[in-house]
Amino acid sequence: METALKITDRSLRAPSGVGAFIIAGPCSAETESQVVQSAVELAKLGRIHALRAGIWKPRTRPNTFEGIGSVGLEWLKSAKAATGLPVAVEVANVKHVYEALRTGVDILWIGARTTTNPFSVQEIAEALRGVSVPVLVKNPVNPDLELWVGALERLNHAGVTTLGAVHRGFSSHERTRFRNNPLWTLPLELKRRHPQLPLLCDPSHICGSRELLAQVSQKAMDLNFDGLMIESHADPDAALSDRDQQLRPSELGELLEKLVFRHSAMQDAAHQTKLEMLRASIDRMDDELLELLAQRMRVSEEIGRCKLEENVSIFQPVRWDEIVKSRVRAGMEKNLAPDFLQKLLEIIHQESIDHQARVMRTAP
Ligand code: PEP
Ligand code: MN
Repeated sequence: METALKITDRSLRAPSGVGAFIIAGPCSAETESQVVQSAVELAKLGRIHALRAGIWKPRTRPNTFEGIGSVGLEWLKSAKAATGLPVAVEVANVKHVYEALRTGVDILWIGARTTTNPFSVQEIAEALRGVSVPVLVKNPVNPDLELWVGALERLNHAGVTTLGAVHRGFSSHERTRFRNNPLWTLPLELKRRHPQLPLLCDPSHICGSRELLAQVSQKAMDLNFDGLMIESHADPDAALSDRDQQLRPSELGELLEKLVFRHSAMQDAAHQTKLEMLRASIDRMDDELLELLAQRMRVSEEIGRCKLEENVSIFQPVRWDEIVKSRVRAGMEKNLAPDFLQKLLEIIHQESIDHQARVMRTAP
């Protein structure tokens, strides 16, 4: 059973309630002037709600820039003093938490690699007991929603109620145009289960390159995300980490300018009525779909009984191949995507096999 997360604070949402909560800043703090210059340029955009910079960088391979360490916290303090904006930092262990809190960091985030490890998350949660600080939890590197929810619960049980989630995509063995596969259904399921939890998108780590950032940021807005955490560096080509995915502050300004923010609900009564009618037809069609699927399974069971009489195997590759080819062809003529058809047929076929197997197992 899913228990509701206790979220009491609104500080991870856009102050006006419309638009999006934007956290921006370099992937890594490198020098004091780089941090402060990036921060000042970002603040000038007038659309940023918090600054970010990594001090301790979890890197896949050693011998890459692993962060400047604690001295960077002082630079973040200078950036905060120069801009008046709250600052966010990644923490991966208890020492990071104490140091960040001691220097007045306003928002902590738990990185994707740390979220995968319940021991680390639990230790961080214990260190935060009794402390009032907003914490963002990035999704784990692997597409495991329960691990993500589990990390949020560990913090929540330790009394952290200003919580948010950050979707940064998932590692995949498949090569896609993304650095990390977005798998949008996972964050959307998180939002379905925990609608009160602010959900931000990190397009930088999803994309891995500048070209896709606008498109992914817009998609997040279309899907009702509450904000973005996006990397921006005063001189991206000279960045010591994630250089291909960082934007100059002015480029980030252009991206945000073009972004269309969506309302989370209809504003106009006529549109609302129309939406309700359309939803009613979807509800009716879903009922019909379910009824048809149930009928189809009953026919499958009948087939199972026939096969049993002749002691024929359940799985028939030739028949299955015919079904896939003919249904994908027919579906494509109705404007349905082949990938979708393939997945749908596989799920239905598996369920049919399960029904037939049950008939065979329970036969007298
Ligand atoms: C980062 O935000 O720079 C970072 C390391 O991200 P992630 O934990 O999502 O890989
Ligand atoms: Mn980064």
